[in-house]
Amino acid sequence: MASASGGTPPGPPPGTRILVVGGGYVGMYTALRLQRKLKQRLRSGDTEIVVVAPEPYMTYQPFLPEAAAGSISPRHVVVPLRHVLPHCTIVIGEARSIDHTKRTATVTTLASGEDGMGALEIEYDELVLAPGSVSRTLPVPGLADHGVGFKTIEEAIGLRNHVIEQMDIASATRDPAVRDAALTFVFVGGGYAGVEALAELEDMARYTARYYHNIKAEDLKWILVEATGRILPEVGESLGLYAVRELRGRNIDVRLDTRLDSCESRIAVLSDGSRFPTRTLVWTAGVKPAPLLAATGLPLDERGRLRCTARLTVEGTEHAWAAGDAAAVPDLTAAEPGRTTAPNAQHALRQAKVLADNVVAALDGGPLTEYRHSYAGSVASLGLHKGVAHIYGRRLKGYPAWLIHRMYHLSRVPTFNRKARVLAEWTLAGLFKREIVSLGSLEHPRAEFELAAGRRPRPGGDDCQ
Ligand SMILES: Cc1cc2nc3c(=O)[nH]c(=O)nc-3n(C[C@H](O)[C@H](O)[C@H](O)COP(=O)(O)OP(=O)(O)OC[C@H]3O[C@@H](n4cnc5c(N)ncnc54)[C@H](O)[C@@H]3O)c2cc1C
Repeated sequence: MASASGGTPPGPPPGTRILVVGGGYVGMYTALRLQRKLKQRLRSGDTEIVVVAPEPYMTYQPFLPEAAAGSISPRHVVVPLRHVLPHCTIVIGEARSIDHTKRTATVTTLASGEDGMGALEIEYDELVLAPGSVSRTLPVPGLADHGVGFKTIEEAIGLRNHVIEQMDIASATRDPAVRDAALTFVFVGGGYAGVEALAELEDMARYTARYYHNIKAEDLKWILVEATGRILPEVGESLGLYAVRELRGRNIDVRLDTRLDSCESRIAVLSDGSRFPTRTLVWTAGVKPAPLLAATGLPLDERGRLRCTARLTVEGTEHAWAAGDAAAVPDLTAAEPGRTTAPNAQHALRQAKVLADNVVAALDGGPLTEYRHSYAGSVASLGLHKGVAHIYGRRLKGYPAWLIHRMYHLSRVPTFNRKARVLAEWTLAGLFKREIVSLGSLEHPRAEFELAAGRRPRPGGDDCQ
């Protein structure tokens, strides 16, 4: 069978094949390091690294809120896998199941439905599982119909367009109920994804409101619903309290110890009895491991994550490795035994390094290293020039925290190319006005042509022309 280098999907392994499932933090950084450390073997064809990922890019998730606010272009939040991993075989597809006894992964690709040849069966010698996590939803009535998550670049940009579009609707409608619902934005979940997304979008919408003749920033209603008594647990209690004060000072309605009970007919009903007609419901109330893990036959913990050793091997298994949001990795630095590392980029990045080194050591018959990293703290943006930071025991808020947030992420975003582009965008944004248009129509590129061809009615009816 032809090898991947011949332009076809991977056939039988040439020598040793390392299969990396996932092209996010762990997947990309592991492949990057393996590519560097195994350079000679990759060149000789003795070893092959195959990366399976549903998208051809890695998403730098901490930049999603800024992408939603328009401070960074969507293209600069993602890192093209083919660019950074030229010596790996990239398969754009989704692993559907793993049979680790036979060492094969079943992978569907965009071509699976087209060529009638079914899913790919990819054989491997070493398996690196890094499929991350997905939004953890609850059976809240109406949530599946009206909610949106905030984990992907599509969601972040879709939400930006949606918020501005709601302002256009509110500006144009003669119905006060439609206006009210359009200008009400409900976010559920007070972790950094929810808080940063809300804070950045509110900041952007407040600025955008200046350009509407009939919308004032005070007309917009932003509600943050959090089931526990605090937000941003990652930055510690006092900074969490500060963040609540900061958001409330901007007229954002922060509701602690409150849950979303339902969102049927686009009315968000909260556990404190309040009801908000809304056209925007953003769900960021936690994550759960990728569904693939249940189809691997590998040992999972009570939360559905792969049970791992501190060496990042899957417990009780040979030739299977895992890290990141999908893995329950013992936290060797924790005071209490039995603790596992938190699902965040800080661990994902560092675990990827140890994992790659251990795979190389295993191939060479060398000793494996244990993962050990004590949490350095967290930074979070609360909109332009506002933030909180808790790093190495130091607590900062306001402008200095926001600056540290930017510097930290600039140093972390992969590749010099991306760093330069992001820095250029920030610099230009400081010199010019913010972008305030909704490009939601990009999501329907054929709409105009279908209209011209008479295949669909004009929105709002032809009599409006
Ligand atoms: C909005 C937001 C902001 C954040 N901000 C911060 C922050 O400031 N600091 C911080 O430390 N952490 C932050 N995080 C968390 C951090 O991004 C994650 O912890 C980190 O991405 C986990 O890395 P991972 O490789 O395990 O998963 P991911 O980076 O999510 O990568 C998983 C990859 O696997 C792919 N995949 C899934 N299923 C399959 C399959 N079946 N087959 C093939 N591929 C598959 C996915 O498409 C994805 O590409 C943030 C997260 C979000 C959503």
